[in-house]
Amino acid sequence: MKQVQIIGAGLAGCEASYYLANKGYSVTLFESKNIKPNPVQVSKGFAELVCSNSLRSNELTNAVGTLKAEMRLLNSLIIQAAEFAQVPAGASLAVDRVKFSEFITSKVKQHPNIKVVEQEVVDFDLTIPTIIASGPLTTPDLQTQIQKLLDNDDFYFFDAVAPIIKKESINMEIAFRKNRYEKGDTSDYINCPMNKTQYDQFYDALIHGEVAISHLAGEQELKYFEGCMPVEAMAKRGPKTLLFGPMKPKGLRNLDGTNNYAVVQLRQDDAKDSLYNLVGFQTNLKWPEQKRIFQMIPGLENAEFVRYGVMHKNNFINSPKLLNLGLQLKTNPKIFFAGQITGVEGYVESSVVGLIAAINLDRFTQGLELLSPPSTTVSGALIHYINNASPIDFQPMKANWGIVDELENFNKQDGKVQKKTLLSERAISEIKKYISQI
Ligand SMILES: Cc1cc2nc3c(=O)[nH]c(=O)nc-3n(C[C@H](O)[C@H](O)[C@H](O)COP(=O)(O)OP(=O)(O)OC[C@H]3O[C@@H](n4cnc5c(N)ncnc54)[C@H](O)[C@@H]3O)c2cc1C
Repeated sequence: MKQVQIIGAGLAGCEASYYLANKGYSVTLFESKNIKPNPVQVSKGFAELVCSNSLRSNELTNAVGTLKAEMRLLNSLIIQAAEFAQVPAGASLAVDRVKFSEFITSKVKQHPNIKVVEQEVVDFDLTIPTIIASGPLTTPDLQTQIQKLLDNDDFYFFDAVAPIIKKESINMEIAFRKNRYEKGDTSDYINCPMNKTQYDQFYDALIHGEVAISHLAGEQELKYFEGCMPVEAMAKRGPKTLLFGPMKPKGLRNLDGTNNYAVVQLRQDDAKDSLYNLVGFQTNLKWPEQKRIFQMIPGLENAEFVRYGVMHKNNFINSPKLLNLGLQLKTNPKIFFAGQITGVEGYVESSVVGLIAAINLDRFTQGLELLSPPSTTVSGALIHYINNASPIDFQPMKANWGIVDELENFNKQDGKVQKKTLLSERAISEIKKYISQI
């Protein structure tokens, strides 16, 4: 049996381990969280979703929805788990994070070809084919080791987690249930409405709230992950920024049809429907400040916080410079990288890169040419992006139609929705061709 090692039992590492184990490899999967958890890990299980519980849109006209459809065709373990642990969230695929992680952990631990080693990897055997999937919170000792391997091409940025509150502590005499634009058959979100006076007071408190970052930022320049920017940092960009972001009132009229100046949305976080997270409210405010300021939101005056937001460091490598299209390290063909550390952004994106790295490691050990999906697919477009982006100012990328190859002969007059539908159909047909080649 051919040996492979995978570092990190997160989304990408579990996806890769499961694929390779099913292909008959003897997989050693290393995971450090139960020995040395990072500040955002709270459970013992693998593939922990550390912030939002949403894998975002399931709609095919949305690039991340099509990405999930591609992954379904690739037999993704992460998508199987998400569908098993799904909770209501309108047009999005949101999950009970405990069930989701338990599903993946048991599939991985019970697989006869996977040996789980609960240990922090600080050094590794470079003679065994390896996938490094240690994520944005790679432990410092492993970071040092990776830096040596990469000749010190390292990057960093910061990122923050949204608070979670108890549903029973929400005042439903003020808050109301509705999905934006009333999409879906059920009303999954809880919405806290604000008038202008309430918004102005909240805004003022938010931008003056005391933040807790200095111990993490150190001497280094503070860089935010755009997709998960702290709400107070976003607010500081201007008084109206939040009204076009997480507090957007559009599509969220009150039940009596009247308009709101701003709305805070809360999304179900667990299958029992007892916990809700504040959508887009990732923060690095000090914990007492979070309580004081977020309780100013109408309906949340008695909110009971089960988890406060936190701030932490996040790493990714200079993939355009270091990796080839097969996610293989140019300077050492036995090493592959997968997940967020490659500079993709998001749960689904990290997972699919785990799958494609595993496919390529398999091809490499068989002496076959490496093969990633074409950039007409969303998965392929992400990998082409991290391969071809500028290495000078490389920044992580989420799934979106902008990185996918343009349609040939598309008539603009047919409109954006038709364009996205055609892009999605082409992506599905191209991923099927890819699957037939691997
Ligand atoms: C705080 C935070 C919030 C985020 N919020 C979101 C969000 O809301 N939505 C979204 O789509 N994306 C979010 N992301 C981005 C990204 O999607 C997730 O980080 C995702 O989990 C990345 O998957 P991964 O498999 O690359 O890494 P991870 O899921 O982090 O898995 C890496 C694993 O490697 C382990 N590990 C690390 N070092 C070692 C070592 N030395 N030895 C052994 N094991 C090691 C870790 O313990 C971890 O289990 C967030 C990222 C962070 C950091």
